[in-house]
Amino acid sequence: MYFPLQEIEAAKLNVDDPQHLRIHSLETFGTHDGPGIRMVIFVQGCQFRCLYCQNPDTLNVKGGTMVEIDELVKRAVRQKTYFGKEGGVTVSGGEPLLQRSKLTTFFKALHEQDINTCLDTNGRLNNKEVHELLEHTDLVLLDVKHINDAIHHKLTGLTNRNTLALAEYRESTGKPMWLRYVLVPGWTDQEEYIEEWGRTFTNYKSVERVEIIPFHQLGLHKWELLKMDYPLKDTPSPSDELKQMTFSIFNKYFDNVILK
Ligand code: SF4
Repeated sequence: MYFPLQEIEAAKLNVDDPQHLRIHSLETFGTHDGPGIRMVIFVQGCQFRCLYCQNPDTLNVKGGTMVEIDELVKRAVRQKTYFGKEGGVTVSGGEPLLQRSKLTTFFKALHEQDINTCLDTNGRLNNKEVHELLEHTDLVLLDVKHINDAIHHKLTGLTNRNTLALAEYRESTGKPMWLRYVLVPGWTDQEEYIEEWGRTFTNYKSVERVEIIPFHQLGLHKWELLKMDYPLKDTPSPSDELKQMTFSIFNKYFDNVILK
């Protein structure tokens, strides 16, 4: 693959400045990642290698720009009037948990300014530092990419065990979470596994919403620009029939299912 894993090891040494976050980009009026109008910060670096990744330019843990946490807080405060009652700041990626301790500092500072915090994560890590971050996270958006571990591994390069453990942990705290499911023809469209996904989380009281995100080809040009081999370049978007089937299954298990 394009990004060797040892690159991730080496880069850990490089991301230790506690006052800076490694950022890919920033969106000022985001409406897709959490409730209301949000400032969305896309952090740089991810250990998953999802075949369908729409942001392959965020994967390299050595890339991006180091931005001072104070500067990000100031930006959020300047934008606060637009957030209204529901909005706030979302940190997405890449994978935010790779910068968990710094994000705890960031979220604490946002809370001091009375700004809502939201974390969009693949749940790659589940440890004490992550739990501390989650304490300061008003809403978790958790991507559970496949319920079957063997398929999850083929799809993302890694196990789903930590993701499922993190879901359980969030449930144990009683704090809110939205679950997300990317619907990809040929990869995440197996009826029996969508059922299993639903059964796994149906009794979770913390799950306020389930979002189905249909696969699309909008990230194709990024794979091409990076000269990476895009394994799903010929995969179509899900048909209306597949979207409806998935929606109907999830609807049996959850009160609030959104097809995006
Ligand atoms: S977790 Fe997100 S950023 Fe990481 S590879 Fe998967 S889709 Fe891309």
